[in-house]
Amino acid sequence: MIRLYRPDCPHPAALTSNDYKHHINKAALRDANHDKCMYCECKISHIDFAHVEHIKPKAKDKYPELKFVWDNLGYACPKCNNSKSDKYYEDTPYINPYSEDPEQYLLAYGTYLFSKNGSERGDITIKDLQLNRPELLEKREIKINEFKRAIDACYRTNSQPLREAALAELQKEADTDKELSLFVKSFLRLNAA
Ligand SMILES: [Zn+2]
Repeated sequence: MIRLYRPDCPHPAALTSNDYKHHINKAALRDANHDKCMYCECKISHIDFAHVEHIKPKAKDKYPELKFVWDNLGYACPKCNNSKSDKYYEDTPYINPYSEDPEQYLLAYGTYLFSKNGSERGDITIKDLQLNRPELLEKREIKINEFKRAIDACYRTNSQPLREAALAELQKEADTDKELSLFVKSFLRLNAA
């Protein structure tokens, strides 16, 4: 999970006419998320597969009044959205990447996501959204292994300018628009240490 920035709602009329997943608004969320799930940072291959996530659940016994409120909407993959379901705790709300920096609460190390400094909000976010589910661990492992091989190949390049150019190119894999960027960033940090 990485920090995201919510755009202004491009089509507020859709919300006032009770349509929270209008394609214009959904596309704006997708662009703000760099095509990635707000929680697990996986690319969502087609916008139709993405869910418009209600940060505070829209269920009748939860926050139905927030069903069409822009600030309560996000862009998530079906797995994260279904894992979270209608859960939400006022005293330990899930980390909201649109309003705070997840790295205050979460730490990527290897293929695992950990909560930071005993953060209960970090713990509950990881647990309820299943942010260490097997398919995510596998995806992160593949990504890190590929990245490690590419870094190693750079270091084995004799030409310094070529090596530096290749390394600079690889650093871009930690950019926020890249899949699983938090894990690549963590790997780079450890590799440089
Ligand atoms: Zn997800």
